[in-house]
Amino acid sequence: MAEPEPLVCARCGTRAEGPRPTWTFSVESGACRHYCERCSRDHLRVIEGRLDSQWW
Ligand SMILES: [Zn+2]
Repeated sequence: MAEPEPLVCARCGTRAEGPRPTWTFSVESGACRHYCERCSRDHLRVIEGRLDSQWW
């Protein structure tokens, strides 16, 4: 019942097995999402860009 949720990339769907790699964790609209190291780089730009447009 207490099994940890498998870490799945919210963008490409890659599943992380074993110890958690250096994935990016972000909260979007109250939803927790994880992005693999490859997608996080591209996604960070989107997040930053969207934050700028939303907050300002
Ligand atoms: Zn990914």
